[in-house]
Amino acid sequence: MAKAIPQLIEGEWRESRTREFIEVTDPATQEVLALAPKATAEEIEAAIASAKAAFLAWREVPVPERARLMLRYQHLLKEHHEELAQILAKETGKTFADAKGDVWRGIEVVEQAANISSLMMGETAENVATGIDTASWIQPLGVCVGITPFNFPAMIPLWMFPLAIAAGNTFILKPSEQDPMTPNRLAELFIEAGAPKGVLQVLHGGREVVDSLLTHPDIRAISFVGSVPVGQHIYRTGTAHLKRVQAFAGAKNHMVILPDANKEQVLSNLVGSSCGAAGQRCMAISVAVFVGESRQWIDELKAQMAELQPGYWIDDHAAYGPLISQQAKQRVLRLIAEGKAEGAECLLDGSHCTVEGFPHGNWLGPTLFRGVTTKMSLYREEIFGPVLVCMEVDSLDEAIALVNASPYGNGTSIFTRSGGAARHYQHAVEVGQVGINVPVPVPLPFFSFTGWKGSFYGDLHAYGKQGVRFYTETKTVTSRWFDESPVSGPNMTIHLK
Ligand code: NAD
Repeated sequence: MAKAIPQLIEGEWRESRTREFIEVTDPATQEVLALAPKATAEEIEAAIASAKAAFLAWREVPVPERARLMLRYQHLLKEHHEELAQILAKETGKTFADAKGDVWRGIEVVEQAANISSLMMGETAENVATGIDTASWIQPLGVCVGITPFNFPAMIPLWMFPLAIAAGNTFILKPSEQDPMTPNRLAELFIEAGAPKGVLQVLHGGREVVDSLLTHPDIRAISFVGSVPVGQHIYRTGTAHLKRVQAFAGAKNHMVILPDANKEQVLSNLVGSSCGAAGQRCMAISVAVFVGESRQWIDELKAQMAELQPGYWIDDHAAYGPLISQQAKQRVLRLIAEGKAEGAECLLDGSHCTVEGFPHGNWLGPTLFRGVTTKMSLYREEIFGPVLVCMEVDSLDEAIALVNASPYGNGTSIFTRSGGAARHYQHAVEVGQVGINVPVPVPLPFFSFTGWKGSFYGDLHAYGKQGVRFYTETKTVTSRWFDESPVSGPNMTIHLK
């Protein structure tokens, strides 16, 4: 019988008192690895009250001391890199190499959080009026919340709580109920690194837990990553309750291929970026836009994709793992069937994929379509599986118009040898993260993760300087010091100089 995982409340790992649990399964075998509790109302209240109390002391801890906690944490994460990747691979199905990448991308954000001292510097100006100086100070907000998706159970929690806490806030993490074991281990290591009691809390559960956090008066800011409908719900409800919200949502990322591009690079980058992690990445390429003669490469693309074989996480030869759940697989199967029914040409169909020794895994083989139009559900919906759709256009401007008409704006890339074409694309495209001969242009943490349009609701993005701004408030102090000159009477007007 699988064990229930604990929650981190008031600095202690506690068993939940709930009677409701969600099964955490190995997506390759359906073995139940653990049970995730649905936090009770009392547990949610206790976590918020503890985070609120802890904030009063934590905000007073000197910034370099908070940075040192992140240095110790970064060191521990590196020491436990492989162990974390094993937990992650088992509960997500990702290959071990890919699981290590997930953890590593998170470690990089912790490194950035260790730089918090310089990121908390404000601005000053002397003599803004005679004898008057102004300084702006950066201060933390209070209790912040993070709600994370299944597809990066290490990286995305680490986008959030280290930076928020380094900035002086306290934090409540509500990880995905589909793979909560990795986030629990991340939190254990954070406590081991010396995080004071109450600075980080971890609650488990689904919609009900999220909704209690979204509407609670003691929560100041909410950071969410997940699907579009949930992102819209989080943004609307959180802001309606006067919270600061950033909601990173779903995507449909186009790669534009010009005929002058390096064909071998195009094909290998397309295969990796569309099917890596079984296509379950918000920055995966899901639409290939072939411009002009480059459409001739689609047959070779098919041949290369056909060679991909999914497998179990410890299999070194596996190109990628299973989908996270049977429901996720059914959704992708539905979209593949709809694509065929709507008249798209299915060049490769992974619907009936099997993996020897794992008859119950949520496997899907690489799937490739051409002849897809913008009206088809294959194009309109985020598929989140190893499925690539090919579109064909005659010019770069036609490709730009296609990409700009998409409601999403997370990532895009262009493959070309022409600097002028790349410059034109980077300038004109209405997408927040652009790669030039780079298929998955995820910025490193000293920049920010900058999705646009329907892929992001909010103003300030994740990590980098924008992440620090999201988790802080600016206070402006205007000061004057009196000498012994006589007081000339009260000032009744605004000074002009
Ligand atoms: P999801 O929206 O189903 O779940 C995300 C989180 O929201 C989970 O913690 C879940 O418990 C909670 N949740 C689910 N339904 C809810 C509801 N009705 N009300 C309140 N909370 C709810 O997303 P997922 O399937 O876990 O993750 C995949 C999605 O995340 C994809 O759409 C992907 O594109 C997106 N994603 C986006 C980014 C980005 O940076 N833009 C990054 C990673 C993933």
